[in-house]
Amino acid sequence: MEEITSNLSIIHSRIDIACEKSGRNPNEVKLLLATKTVSPKNIRKALEAGEFLIGENKVQELKEKFEALKEVPHESHFIGHLQSNKIKDVVKYVQCIQSIDRMSLAQKLQKRMEFEDRTMDIFIQVNTSYEESKFGAAPEYAIPFAKEVSQMDRLKIKGLMTIGLFSAEDEKVRKCFQLLKGIQKQLRDLDISAIELSMGMSGDLETAIEEGSTMVRVGTAVFGKRQYPDSYYWNEGKSS
Ligand SMILES: *Cc1c(COP(=O)(O)O)cnc(C)c1O
Repeated sequence: MEEITSNLSIIHSRIDIACEKSGRNPNEVKLLLATKTVSPKNIRKALEAGEFLIGENKVQELKEKFEALKEVPHESHFIGHLQSNKIKDVVKYVQCIQSIDRMSLAQKLQKRMEFEDRTMDIFIQVNTSYEESKFGAAPEYAIPFAKEVSQMDRLKIKGLMTIGLFSAEDEKVRKCFQLLKGIQKQLRDLDISAIELSMGMSGDLETAIEEGSTMVRVGTAVFGKRQYPDSYYWNEGKSS
């Protein structure tokens, strides 16, 4: 078997085992492939092996791969830090933006969608690890923020997204995921639905699934190690 194909079957069995352990149905957990730095050729291999959901972090990269993947059925999400001046570009290429984390960005996206007379699916990104270097709305701000966004008629809140703490201590990582789940519950009490919980990556997907993840975002475990450190993608313009 090709390496990507066999990596994918390993990931699917990890998802299945984690679901079984927590009494969940594996159909409740989607796999999104984090494809930053991955060539269109390799992304295509994964899509042809039966995957459907992919996520990019940079608008430039998204744009470069768009043409090459046009013929292969898939759904594309934006999962990286989004600068307001890139909104116009990114909405050409994706069905969903998972990294909505501040009012100014939400307002500009709303305006753009009004202008284009369409809507955009979004996730609210929450910085559940409280790390300075990570993007995402502060957990205390997530509720008031989501309330405001839910009033924006062109933005459809589909879920919440977070990047768990990088730590070998499972309990600390778990707390991040529990925090996101708690925010989802509070929103539900306010009649704001955010059905998807996008949490869990190559290293912590089991913990995330145990805590209610409905979408794991996996890169390295499928495509191998990346050339650039993740800080290049995660805290551009932020002190780390
Ligand atoms: C790169 C990335 C992932 C995947 O990380 P891996 O550890 O390679 O699985 C998930 N989410 C986001 C936002 C990413 O940038």
